[in-house]
Amino acid sequence: SCWGYSYRGLWDITVEVRDVPKPVRYFREANFLDYCMQAITKSGFVEPTPIQSQGWPMALKGRDMIGIVQIGYGKTLSYLLPGLVHVGAQPRLEQGDGPIVLILAPTRELSVQIQEESAKFGSYSRTRSTCIYGGASKGPQIRDLRRGVEIVIATPGRLIDMLEAGHTNLRRVTYLVLDEADRMLDMGFEPQIQKILAQACIRPDRQTLYWSATWPREVESLARQFLQNPYKVIIGSLDL
Ligand code: ADP
Ligand code: MG
Repeated sequence: SCWGYSYRGLWDITVEVRDVPKPVRYFREANFLDYCMQAITKSGFVEPTPIQSQGWPMALKGRDMIGIVQIGYGKTLSYLLPGLVHVGAQPRLEQGDGPIVLILAPTRELSVQIQEESAKFGSYSRTRSTCIYGGASKGPQIRDLRRGVEIVIATPGRLIDMLEAGHTNLRRVTYLVLDEADRMLDMGFEPQIQKILAQACIRPDRQTLYWSATWPREVESLARQFLQNPYKVIIGSLDL
């Protein structure tokens, strides 16, 4: 792991716990399944971004993790590809099951972007996903949820509507992602997040991945509440 150390220095990667897996330099080192590699090859990407490089081996260990990373660094695939691997390792969805992977995001735009990547990369493994956000008609969202999808990407308010109306449930969620946690808290979503996490955190084998561009006290305290013994990786510096 000697070069692991120098690689982290080169890319300004800081890790905060011991026994962290070393970053991967090449896609093939990540031990993704064939379908992920196929998708990566098709995407034309040449090498992992620093957060992918360090985040993938962490996430693939099945442990909780915190990633403090600015916008534009390739976070989506950092949690999405390990999420696809996770889905592949779970029993199939049965009638009435809710999603296995739940991704919470602050805005409609962001949810749609994540859904686009999820649809593209998930298609290789026939993993279904949908996004659920406010300000749009509920019909198609309800239809997707009821049909069954392994991955749900949602803004907090609309997801609560769907849960309360019984269109989905979070009993099978074993891979939970909070994307742009600082922005969700800035937008006042804390009560909704608390409510959702209370329902999504019932399985002891749940893995939670927590992402933020900044690390103020509220963001940290939410992480403390819901993460267990997480890996923590910071790309760049915390004083933005
Ligand atoms: P973030 O969530 O950190 O803001 P995104 O996941 O939206 O970043 O990625 C930003 C852009 O970089 C997207 O267009 C994405 O397709 C692209 N991207 C992701 N991973 C790589 C990679 N390994 N090499 C090149 N481009 C990448
Ligand atoms: Mg993002």
